[in-house]
Amino acid sequence: MKRLATAAAAVGLVAALGVLAGPVAEHAGSSASANGVAAGPAAGAAPPGAARQSNRAALRMPAWIHRHFIPFGAKRKHQMARYSLRHYGVRSWRLRNPRQIVEHVAVGNSVAGVYRTFAANRPDPEFHELPNVCAHFVVSGRGRVVQLVPLGIRCRHTVGLNHVSFGIEHTGFTDGDVLGNPRQMRASIRLTKWLRCRYGIGIRDVIGHNESLGSRFHRELVPAMKNQTHGDFRHASMRRYRKALHDAGRCPRA
Ligand SMILES: [Zn+2]
Repeated sequence: MKRLATAAAAVGLVAALGVLAGPVAEHAGSSASANGVAAGPAAGAAPPGAARQSNRAALRMPAWIHRHFIPFGAKRKHQMARYSLRHYGVRSWRLRNPRQIVEHVAVGNSVAGVYRTFAANRPDPEFHELPNVCAHFVVSGRGRVVQLVPLGIRCRHTVGLNHVSFGIEHTGFTDGDVLGNPRQMRASIRLTKWLRCRYGIGIRDVIGHNESLGSRFHRELVPAMKNQTHGDFRHASMRRYRKALHDAGRCPRA
């Protein structure tokens, strides 16, 4: 997410000086349904007995996903609904039917920096629109997974796909930084596998930001933004990423 470079770097510096990101939001530790988890397609038709129990367990947020939600109150939701009306033709802030997962590189080296950039709800520096950009998760270089936004809420992370996709940020500056970091990659693949299995999203629908214009779900009503994308996670990088995701194995049976 190149547009965050300056702000993220600046905040990263602040974080390096020991200023921590804001307090854990009120949603921290919230239930699965508050995270939109229960709204997914796998919520119904649970098999009987032990299988049902394992299915129920699969619905829960794993303990290794740490929650540190950015503020996303009524005002920001209202702004997101209006953004959706302008860009997708339907006024909604809810992410009801996620179909893809978009991988990003934050162009910053700290989770705190990413948090602070997204938490500040000011017009984004690239398009000067509200609400500010965000992503649902960030994966650190050490392999820590932090959820920033509940899964039932739309985030602005990829022009043309925010109405149908989750966004995952990675600290680092290039695709190679992430692909070449085994701890970060293990955590990222673990997260993406859990998320895609939870929502019934196929490996081909795990895409890089730079692949957004080729997505069959892409939709953008604003003419000037129809061909807009970013350079993070190009096709060649995503071929490696999807290979790793494939090698991580099939989704557990529900
Ligand atoms: Zn991006």
